[in-house]
Parts: sequence; C-alpha cells; structure tokens
Amino acid sequence: MDCLFCAIVAKTIPAKILYENEHVLAFEDINPQAPSHVLIIPKQHIPTLNDLQANQIDLAGSLLYTAKHLAEQLGYAESGYRVVNNCKEDGGQAVYHLHLHLLGNRVFTWPPG
Ligand code: 5GP
Ligand code: ZN
Repeated sequence: MDCLFCAIVAKTIPAKILYENEHVLAFEDINPQAPSHVLIIPKQHIPTLNDLQANQIDLAGSLLYTAKHLAEQLGYAESGYRVVNNCKEDGGQAVYHLHLHLLGNRVFTWPPG
C-alpha cells in the first residue's frame, strides 16, 4: 500500500519518533505549525476518522491518551495545547492515514481557519 505514514510505521521513511507502543506511533511533524507539533497515529492503516469502527474505540482512546501523555512529557500540559483531527477534503486532510495533531508551546486562537 502506498501510504506515507504506513512507511513511517515500517521505518522505511525516517521520522523523529517521540513515542511508540504496540498500537500507536507519535513523531514530529515535518512542517511544524507550532514550536511543538507532533503527529499521533495508529500503526494500523485507517484512512480517515470516518473509517473508525466500533471495535477500534480503544485504539482511538489510545491516540487521545498519547496526546495527553506527550503534552505532559513535553512540558505544556499545564499551560495548555491543541489536539486536532483534519477529516477529508473540507477538513484539510492531506495524508489519508488517521492522525491527531498535538500542537503546543504557543497560544492558539479560535475559531481556526
Ligand atoms: P493533515 O493535513 O493530513 O491533517 O496533516 C498531515 C501532516 O503531515 C502535515 O502537518 C504535514 O506537515 C505532515 N507531513 C507530511 N509529510 C510528512 C513526512 O514525510 N514526515 C512527517 N514527519 N510529517 C509529514
Ligand atoms: Zn497508512
């Protein structure tokens, strides 16, 4: 399968990995939109949030828990941070392998663009 993030999971494309367990991988975004910008992905290929199945609810929780854990590790849990999922065209999704963006170490505005 021709998927960039699956290639990062397989380690055929390098990435700065910050966290990894059996089901989840977290690595630095190549084009950071904040001083800290981490992508958190399931190792399993799930194209978009729309494709998440009921039997993958624990996996989705693991992605969110990893965001919280990394925010603590990276030192901005207390000041706050943003977690984002871009879903499909209108959501601005560019890579069709489900991921959360964890953004920190700056102040974010609302609403987003
Ligand atoms: P999306 O727009 O799909 O929500 O976000 C995709 C993200 O993947 C973007 O923030 C982009 O900078 C990041 N990205 C694209 N290609 C690479 C890559 O080869 N390595 C890493 N680490 N991040 C990438
Ligand atoms: Zn993939």
